[in-house]
Amino acid sequence: MERRKFLQILGKGFFVSSFSGVFPTAAFGKTAFDYALEGQNFLQNGAYHKAIEVLLKAVEMDSESDWAYGLLGRSYRALHKEAEAVDAFRKAVRLNPEDVYSRMMIEMITQKPVPRLQKETEPLTPLEIKARKEEADILASLESDEELTYKVKRVVIDAGHGGFDSGAVGRNGLKEKDVTLDLARMLHQKIENEGKIKPFLTRTDDYYVPLSDRTTIANQFQADLFISIHVNASKNRSAQGSETYYCSETASNREAARVASLENSVLKYDEPIKAKEGYIDIEEILFRFEQRLNWKESGVFASTFQKRIEEKLPLKSRGVNAANFFVLRRARMPSILLEIGFISNSDDEFRLGQRTFRQRIVDSVAWGL
Ligand SMILES: [Zn+2]
Repeated sequence: MERRKFLQILGKGFFVSSFSGVFPTAAFGKTAFDYALEGQNFLQNGAYHKAIEVLLKAVEMDSESDWAYGLLGRSYRALHKEAEAVDAFRKAVRLNPEDVYSRMMIEMITQKPVPRLQKETEPLTPLEIKARKEEADILASLESDEELTYKVKRVVIDAGHGGFDSGAVGRNGLKEKDVTLDLARMLHQKIENEGKIKPFLTRTDDYYVPLSDRTTIANQFQADLFISIHVNASKNRSAQGSETYYCSETASNREAARVASLENSVLKYDEPIKAKEGYIDIEEILFRFEQRLNWKESGVFASTFQKRIEEKLPLKSRGVNAANFFVLRRARMPSILLEIGFISNSDDEFRLGQRTFRQRIVDSVAWGL
Protein backbone atom coordinates (compact mmCIF):
# COMPACT_ATOMS: atom_id res chain seq x y z
CA MET A 1 0.00 0.00 0.00
CA GLU A 2 1.20 3.48 -0.85
CA ARG A 3 0.89 4.63 2.70
CA ARG A 4 3.30 7.53 2.46
CA LYS A 5 1.47 8.94 -0.50
CA PHE A 6 -1.81 8.80 1.40
CA LEU A 7 -0.31 10.44 4.41
CA GLN A 8 1.07 13.18 2.21
CA ILE A 9 -2.30 13.68 0.67
CA LEU A 10 -3.88 13.74 4.12
CA GLY A 11 -1.29 16.25 5.21
CA LYS A 12 -2.23 18.52 2.34
CA GLY A 13 -5.85 18.40 3.40
CA PHE A 14 -7.27 16.65 0.37
CA PHE A 15 -10.46 14.74 0.82
CA VAL A 16 -9.60 11.07 0.76
CA SER A 17 -12.80 9.20 0.07
CA SER A 18 -12.20 9.37 -3.68
CA PHE A 19 -9.33 6.96 -3.16
CA SER A 20 -11.33 4.32 -1.38
CA GLY A 21 -11.62 2.23 -4.50
CA VAL A 22 -7.99 1.25 -4.05
CA PHE A 23 -8.71 -0.54 -0.81
CA PRO A 24 -10.47 -3.83 -0.15
CA THR A 25 -14.16 -3.10 0.20
CA ALA A 26 -16.39 -4.39 2.99
CA ALA A 27 -19.91 -5.62 2.62
CA PHE A 28 -21.29 -2.52 4.35
CA GLY A 29 -19.34 -0.12 2.19
CA LYS A 30 -16.67 0.82 4.72
CA THR A 31 -13.17 0.00 3.58
CA ALA A 32 -10.09 -1.02 5.54
CA PHE A 33 -8.78 2.45 4.81
CA ASP A 34 -11.91 4.04 6.28
CA TYR A 35 -11.48 2.04 9.47
CA ALA A 36 -7.81 2.87 9.70
CA LEU A 37 -8.58 6.54 9.22
CA GLU A 38 -11.27 6.36 11.87
CA GLY A 39 -8.74 4.66 14.13
CA GLN A 40 -6.24 7.43 13.55
CA ASN A 41 -8.84 10.02 14.54
CA PHE A 42 -9.77 8.13 17.70
CA LEU A 43 -6.11 7.76 18.53
CA GLN A 44 -5.48 11.45 18.10
CA ASN A 45 -8.44 12.26 20.33
CA GLY A 46 -7.29 9.87 23.04
CA ALA A 47 -10.13 7.38 22.51
CA TYR A 48 -7.78 4.41 22.54
CA HIS A 49 -10.31 1.62 23.14
CA LYS A 50 -12.42 2.82 20.23
CA ALA A 51 -9.29 3.18 18.11
CA ILE A 52 -8.33 -0.43 18.78
CA GLU A 53 -11.83 -1.62 17.95
CA VAL A 54 -11.83 -0.08 14.46
CA LEU A 55 -8.15 -0.73 13.77
CA LEU A 56 -8.69 -4.43 14.42
CA LYS A 57 -11.41 -4.30 11.77
CA ALA A 58 -9.01 -2.53 9.42
CA VAL A 59 -6.28 -5.17 9.74
CA GLU A 60 -8.82 -7.95 9.52
CA MET A 61 -9.95 -6.59 6.14
CA ASP A 62 -6.49 -5.67 4.93
CA SER A 63 -3.78 -7.72 6.57
CA GLU A 64 -1.16 -5.89 4.46
CA SER A 65 -1.79 -2.49 6.02
CA ASP A 66 1.40 -1.56 7.87
CA TRP A 67 -0.18 1.81 8.53
CA ALA A 68 -3.10 0.27 10.45
CA TYR A 69 -0.75 -1.99 12.40
CA GLY A 70 1.40 0.99 13.33
CA LEU A 71 -1.66 2.87 14.61
CA LEU A 72 -2.79 -0.23 16.46
CA GLY A 73 0.60 -0.45 18.15
CA ARG A 74 0.37 3.15 19.28
CA SER A 75 -3.16 2.66 20.64
CA TYR A 76 -2.12 -0.41 22.63
CA ARG A 77 0.93 1.39 23.90
CA ALA A 78 -1.20 4.29 25.12
CA LEU A 79 -3.15 1.75 27.19
CA HIS A 80 0.13 0.21 28.46
CA LYS A 81 -0.62 -3.05 26.74
CA GLU A 82 3.04 -3.53 25.88
CA ALA A 83 2.88 -7.09 24.53
CA GLU A 84 0.05 -6.29 22.12
CA ALA A 85 1.80 -3.07 21.12
CA VAL A 86 5.06 -4.84 20.30
CA ASP A 87 3.17 -7.47 18.34
CA ALA A 88 1.41 -4.81 16.22
CA PHE A 89 4.62 -2.83 15.64
CA ARG A 90 6.42 -6.02 14.61
CA LYS A 91 3.72 -6.69 12.02
CA ALA A 92 4.08 -3.12 10.75
CA VAL A 93 7.84 -3.52 10.40
CA ARG A 94 7.49 -6.88 8.70
CA LEU A 95 5.16 -5.34 6.11
CA ASN A 96 7.22 -2.22 5.72
CA PRO A 97 10.88 -2.58 6.71
CA GLU A 98 11.30 1.17 6.20
CA ASP A 99 8.93 1.91 9.07
CA VAL A 100 11.62 3.25 11.40
CA TYR A 101 9.04 4.62 13.82
CA SER A 102 7.54 1.20 14.56
CA ARG A 103 11.01 -0.27 14.75
CA MET A 104 12.04 2.33 17.25
CA MET A 105 8.88 1.69 19.28
CA ILE A 106 9.73 -2.01 19.49
CA GLU A 107 13.19 -1.14 20.76
CA MET A 108 11.80 1.39 23.19
CA ILE A 109 9.21 -0.95 24.68
CA THR A 110 11.53 -3.93 24.87
CA GLN A 111 14.48 -1.96 26.26
CA LYS A 112 12.93 1.22 27.60
CA PRO A 113 15.66 3.63 26.48
CA VAL A 114 15.00 7.35 26.64
CA PRO A 115 15.18 8.78 23.14
CA ARG A 116 16.57 12.29 22.90
CA LEU A 117 14.33 13.29 20.02
CA GLN A 118 10.95 13.39 21.70
CA LYS A 119 11.23 16.51 23.80
CA GLU A 120 8.11 18.17 22.45
CA THR A 121 4.73 16.61 21.83
CA GLU A 122 4.88 13.28 20.10
CA PRO A 123 4.95 13.68 16.30
CA LEU A 124 1.90 12.32 14.53
CA THR A 125 3.12 10.35 11.56
CA PRO A 126 6.29 8.53 10.54
CA LEU A 127 6.62 11.13 7.79
CA GLU A 128 6.68 13.94 10.31
CA ILE A 129 9.22 12.12 12.42
CA LYS A 130 11.43 11.58 9.42
CA ALA A 131 11.15 15.21 8.37
CA ARG A 132 12.01 16.47 11.85
CA LYS A 133 14.91 14.07 12.11
CA GLU A 134 16.30 15.12 8.75
CA GLU A 135 16.05 18.75 9.68
CA ALA A 136 17.77 18.18 13.02
CA ASP A 137 20.52 16.17 11.35
CA ILE A 138 21.29 18.87 8.81
CA LEU A 139 21.45 21.49 11.54
CA ALA A 140 23.64 19.29 13.67
CA SER A 141 26.01 18.52 10.81
CA LEU A 142 26.37 22.25 10.15
CA GLU A 143 26.98 23.19 13.76
CA SER A 144 29.04 20.49 15.38
CA ASP A 145 32.44 20.46 13.74
CA GLU A 146 34.24 20.69 17.07
CA GLU A 147 33.17 17.12 17.86
CA LEU A 148 36.23 15.47 16.35
CA THR A 149 37.38 14.00 19.62
CA TYR A 150 34.54 12.43 21.48
CA LYS A 151 33.44 10.55 24.52
CA VAL A 152 31.25 7.53 23.98
CA LYS A 153 27.99 8.15 25.78
CA ARG A 154 25.58 6.14 23.68
CA VAL A 155 26.54 2.97 21.89
CA VAL A 156 24.45 0.94 19.47
CA ILE A 157 25.34 -2.75 19.49
CA ASP A 158 24.46 -4.66 16.36
CA ALA A 159 24.15 -8.44 16.47
CA GLY A 160 25.12 -9.51 12.96
CA HIS A 161 22.66 -11.50 10.79
CA GLY A 162 19.41 -12.99 12.21
CA GLY A 163 16.24 -14.70 11.03
CA PHE A 164 16.67 -16.38 7.65
CA ASP A 165 20.22 -15.07 7.48
CA SER A 166 22.23 -17.45 9.70
CA GLY A 167 25.59 -15.94 8.80
CA ALA A 168 28.44 -18.43 8.87
CA VAL A 169 27.76 -21.91 10.26
CA GLY A 170 30.39 -24.05 11.97
CA ARG A 171 31.05 -27.73 11.29
CA ASN A 172 29.22 -28.69 14.46
CA GLY A 173 26.24 -26.54 13.57
CA LEU A 174 26.94 -23.40 15.62
CA LYS A 175 25.35 -20.43 13.83
CA GLU A 176 26.92 -17.00 13.64
CA LYS A 177 23.53 -15.30 14.14
CA ASP A 178 23.03 -17.03 17.51
CA VAL A 179 26.52 -16.24 18.79
CA THR A 180 26.28 -12.58 17.75
CA LEU A 181 22.84 -12.19 19.35
CA ASP A 182 24.00 -13.70 22.62
CA LEU A 183 27.20 -11.64 22.69
CA ALA A 184 25.27 -8.45 21.84
CA ARG A 185 22.71 -9.07 24.57
CA MET A 186 25.39 -9.86 27.14
CA LEU A 187 27.38 -6.78 26.15
CA HIS A 188 24.22 -4.67 26.37
CA GLN A 189 23.54 -6.01 29.85
CA LYS A 190 27.08 -5.43 31.02
CA ILE A 191 27.30 -1.85 29.74
CA GLU A 192 23.89 -1.10 31.19
CA ASN A 193 24.95 -2.44 34.59
CA GLU A 194 28.13 -0.37 34.55
CA GLY A 195 25.97 2.69 33.97
CA LYS A 196 28.56 4.88 32.23
CA ILE A 197 27.41 4.39 28.64
CA LYS A 198 23.83 4.00 27.41
CA PRO A 199 23.61 0.90 25.19
CA PHE A 200 21.01 0.05 22.52
CA LEU A 201 20.50 -3.02 20.37
CA THR A 202 19.56 -3.19 16.68
CA ARG A 203 17.83 -6.51 17.23
CA THR A 204 16.77 -8.24 20.41
CA ASP A 205 15.76 -11.59 19.02
CA ASP A 206 16.20 -13.97 16.11
CA TYR A 207 14.81 -11.86 13.27
CA TYR A 208 16.36 -10.30 10.21
CA VAL A 209 17.09 -6.57 10.07
CA PRO A 210 18.20 -5.17 6.68
CA LEU A 211 21.77 -3.85 6.73
CA SER A 212 20.77 -0.26 6.00
CA ASP A 213 18.18 -0.32 8.82
CA ARG A 214 20.86 -1.22 11.32
CA THR A 215 22.67 2.05 10.79
CA THR A 216 19.36 3.91 10.56
CA ILE A 217 18.64 2.67 14.08
CA ALA A 218 22.07 3.86 15.25
CA ASN A 219 21.41 7.25 13.66
CA GLN A 220 17.97 7.40 15.29
CA PHE A 221 19.42 6.76 18.71
CA GLN A 222 22.06 9.41 18.01
CA ALA A 223 24.75 7.02 19.16
CA ASP A 224 28.39 8.10 19.45
CA LEU A 225 29.56 4.65 18.49
CA PHE A 226 28.20 1.77 16.43
CA ILE A 227 29.57 -1.73 16.97
CA SER A 228 28.56 -4.54 14.66
CA ILE A 229 29.37 -7.98 16.06
CA HIS A 230 30.25 -10.87 13.76
CA VAL A 231 32.07 -14.19 13.71
CA ASN A 232 34.47 -14.83 10.88
CA ALA A 233 34.68 -17.88 8.63
CA SER A 234 37.35 -19.04 6.24
CA LYS A 235 38.06 -21.94 3.91
CA ASN A 236 41.36 -22.16 5.73
CA ARG A 237 40.21 -24.13 8.77
CA SER A 238 43.26 -23.21 10.81
CA ALA A 239 42.52 -19.45 10.66
CA GLN A 240 41.53 -18.14 14.09
CA GLY A 241 41.51 -15.01 16.22
CA SER A 242 39.72 -11.68 16.34
CA GLU A 243 39.88 -8.58 14.19
CA THR A 244 38.53 -5.03 14.33
CA TYR A 245 37.33 -3.48 11.08
CA TYR A 246 36.28 0.00 10.08
CA CYS A 247 34.74 1.28 6.89
CA SER A 248 36.62 2.66 3.91
CA GLU A 249 36.06 2.81 0.15
CA THR A 250 38.94 0.43 -0.50
CA ALA A 251 39.98 -2.63 1.45
CA SER A 252 43.30 -2.58 3.28
CA ASN A 253 44.17 -6.01 1.87
CA ARG A 254 42.71 -8.99 0.04
CA GLU A 255 41.60 -10.77 3.21
CA ALA A 256 39.73 -7.64 4.39
CA ALA A 257 37.98 -7.45 1.02
CA ARG A 258 36.96 -11.10 1.33
CA VAL A 259 35.50 -10.55 4.82
CA ALA A 260 33.56 -7.49 3.63
CA SER A 261 32.10 -9.31 0.63
CA LEU A 262 31.07 -12.17 2.94
CA GLU A 263 29.31 -9.78 5.30
CA ASN A 264 27.76 -7.80 2.44
CA SER A 265 26.44 -10.89 0.67
CA VAL A 266 23.01 -10.68 2.31
CA LEU A 267 22.55 -7.29 0.64
CA LYS A 268 20.79 -8.89 -2.29
CA TYR A 269 17.71 -9.38 -0.08
CA ASP A 270 17.56 -5.75 0.98
CA GLU A 271 15.78 -3.00 -0.83
CA PRO A 272 18.24 -0.75 -2.65
CA ILE A 273 18.63 2.79 -1.38
CA LYS A 274 16.68 4.87 -3.85
CA ALA A 275 18.68 7.62 -5.47
CA LYS A 276 16.81 10.85 -5.91
CA GLU A 277 16.92 11.94 -9.50
CA GLY A 278 17.12 15.29 -11.18
CA TYR A 279 18.57 17.60 -8.54
CA ILE A 280 21.66 18.09 -6.44
CA ASP A 281 21.13 16.57 -3.06
CA ILE A 282 22.71 18.99 -0.59
CA GLU A 283 22.17 16.65 2.30
CA GLU A 284 24.01 13.90 0.48
CA ILE A 285 26.99 16.19 -0.07
CA LEU A 286 27.05 17.11 3.61
CA PHE A 287 26.67 13.46 4.47
CA ARG A 288 29.69 12.46 2.36
CA PHE A 289 31.76 15.08 4.09
CA GLU A 290 30.63 13.88 7.50
CA GLN A 291 31.23 10.29 6.40
CA ARG A 292 34.91 10.99 5.66
CA LEU A 293 35.38 12.43 9.15
CA ASN A 294 33.56 9.50 10.73
CA TRP A 295 35.62 6.92 8.88
CA LYS A 296 38.81 8.66 9.89
CA GLU A 297 37.66 8.70 13.50
CA SER A 298 36.60 5.05 13.20
CA GLY A 299 40.15 4.12 12.15
CA VAL A 300 41.64 5.89 15.15
CA PHE A 301 39.07 4.35 17.44
CA ALA A 302 39.55 0.85 15.98
CA SER A 303 43.33 0.94 16.58
CA THR A 304 43.02 2.16 20.16
CA PHE A 305 40.25 -0.30 20.85
CA GLN A 306 42.03 -3.32 19.37
CA LYS A 307 45.23 -2.52 21.28
CA ARG A 308 43.27 -2.29 24.49
CA ILE A 309 41.23 -5.47 24.13
CA GLU A 310 44.30 -7.46 23.07
CA GLU A 311 45.37 -7.39 26.70
CA LYS A 312 42.25 -9.20 27.88
CA LEU A 313 40.62 -10.91 24.92
CA PRO A 314 40.96 -14.69 25.11
CA LEU A 315 41.61 -14.87 21.36
CA LYS A 316 44.58 -14.25 19.14
CA SER A 317 44.63 -10.68 17.80
CA ARG A 318 44.62 -10.28 14.02
CA GLY A 319 44.83 -6.50 14.21
CA VAL A 320 42.86 -3.71 12.54
CA ASN A 321 41.74 -3.60 8.93
CA ALA A 322 39.53 -1.51 6.71
CA ALA A 323 37.05 -2.52 4.00
CA ASN A 324 33.79 -1.45 2.50
CA PHE A 325 31.21 -2.88 4.90
CA PHE A 326 27.72 -1.93 3.86
CA VAL A 327 26.38 -2.17 7.41
CA LEU A 328 28.78 0.62 8.47
CA ARG A 329 28.48 2.87 5.41
CA ARG A 330 25.58 5.12 6.37
CA ALA A 331 26.43 5.50 10.05
CA ARG A 332 26.61 9.11 11.17
CA MET A 333 29.08 8.27 13.91
CA PRO A 334 32.32 6.32 14.24
CA SER A 335 31.57 2.67 13.67
CA ILE A 336 33.47 -0.58 13.87
CA LEU A 337 32.81 -4.19 13.01
CA LEU A 338 34.23 -6.95 15.18
CA GLU A 339 35.01 -10.38 13.80
CA ILE A 340 35.26 -12.40 16.97
CA GLY A 341 36.92 -15.74 16.28
CA PHE A 342 36.39 -18.09 13.35
CA ILE A 343 33.37 -20.36 13.37
CA SER A 344 35.13 -22.40 10.69
CA ASN A 345 37.89 -23.27 13.15
CA SER A 346 36.83 -26.16 15.39
CA ASP A 347 38.71 -24.77 18.41
CA ASP A 348 37.07 -21.37 18.08
CA GLU A 349 33.68 -22.95 17.35
CA PHE A 350 33.86 -25.07 20.48
CA ARG A 351 34.89 -22.13 22.68
CA LEU A 352 32.38 -19.71 21.14
CA GLY A 353 29.64 -22.16 22.10
CA GLN A 354 30.50 -21.78 25.76
CA ARG A 355 28.91 -19.31 28.07
CA THR A 356 32.00 -18.62 30.17
CA PHE A 357 34.07 -17.96 27.06
CA ARG A 358 31.44 -15.57 25.71
CA GLN A 359 31.42 -13.75 29.02
CA ARG A 360 35.20 -13.27 28.81
CA ILE A 361 34.82 -11.80 25.33
CA VAL A 362 32.07 -9.47 26.48
CA ASP A 363 34.12 -8.37 29.49
CA SER A 364 37.11 -7.49 27.34
CA VAL A 365 35.00 -5.66 24.72
CA ALA A 366 33.26 -3.64 27.46
CA TRP A 367 36.63 -2.87 28.96
CA GLY A 368 37.93 -1.82 25.55
CA LEU A 369 35.18 0.78 25.27
ZN1 LIG B 1 28.84 -11.91 9.83
